[in-house]
Amino acid sequence: MPPWLRQRSIGKASEISTVQRIIKQRQIHTICEEGRCPNRGECYSQKTATFLLMGPTCTRACAFCQVDKGHAPMPLDPQEPQKVAESVQLLGLRYVVLTSVARDDLPDGGAGWFVATMEAIRQLNRETQIEVLTPDFWGGLLGQGDKGTGGQGDKGTGGQGDKGTRGQGDKGTGGQGEDESVLDRGSLGAKNSQEEKQYQRIATVVRAKPACYNHNIETVRRLQNPVRRGAKYDRSLNVLRIVKNLDPNIPTKSGLMLGHGETEAEIIAAMADLRAVGCDRITLGQYLRPSLEHLPVQKYWTPEEFDRLGAIAQELGFSHVRSGPLVRSSYHAGE
Ligand code: SF4
Ligand code: SF4
Repeated sequence: MPPWLRQRSIGKASEISTVQRIIKQRQIHTICEEGRCPNRGECYSQKTATFLLMGPTCTRACAFCQVDKGHAPMPLDPQEPQKVAESVQLLGLRYVVLTSVARDDLPDGGAGWFVATMEAIRQLNRETQIEVLTPDFWGGLLGQGDKGTGGQGDKGTGGQGDKGTRGQGDKGTGGQGEDESVLDRGSLGAKNSQEEKQYQRIATVVRAKPACYNHNIETVRRLQNPVRRGAKYDRSLNVLRIVKNLDPNIPTKSGLMLGHGETEAEIIAAMADLRAVGCDRITLGQYLRPSLEHLPVQKYWTPEEFDRLGAIAQELGFSHVRSGPLVRSSYHAGE
């Protein structure tokens, strides 16, 4: 790896071990620890962390992503929302990012679980801000409809660090079902039931008023299939568009991981597409190959190139821009 990716200090060991102990005791998951993110010391000292909800096993299989996949996800832990809330309290976190693997086996795709966890956190931590980084919420129960293969997860936008259970979640156990009342088919112009489901799931999360709604497009339009396989670029853009239409006051955010062979012109086009759906914030980071089974890195973008792209992002009108080799989609999220 080039030197600029090797220079990072991992931060204060004491802060990292405190977080590890609290997380391990409760058998919950963070992207920070699962991905051994190089930014941990920095983020923990700034009282920020990213929790991975609904277990570590994804129902999809993106070629860049390091999360566990290829077998059935675990049942949801009904205590998970409370455990996450307690961890936030013990760690004194002021800004929390909630993300998840794609749970196409759940009737609501896990949307209700996000909300249940937000409510539990707020009960114990009134001042803590909560950002969500959601899957695209496309698809229904496995075997029904197009489940796709490229949601999200904070793991994206970098490879190491940021990235994305149970079955039968649905309304029980703290989750909630899809509320037909929020669906405005006229304004949505939904073409099919999958779009309606996606809309309802996003609306479920939007109603809980996160501090920021993040959904990563991960890469440029041309490379969606090899990188995110079945994911759809326009479907992901639509997530951000729906959020803005539902509540323009919630900032929206997305991210790309660079290094898959994209050109600068393609990156700029992707950023313009994000601005066209009202996306407010952007992260640009370097993809790092998690293992030899994952996609190889095609290019290491230099810090200077990241700076230039960051400047272009600001010119395009993003209000918050993070662009650098070690930037992950939750990096400095609380600022
Ligand atoms: Fe955790 Fe994200 Fe910070 Fe990495 S960048 S330590 S995943 S909050
Ligand atoms: Fe699953 Fe998200 Fe990883 Fe794709 S990027 S495999 S949807 S966790």
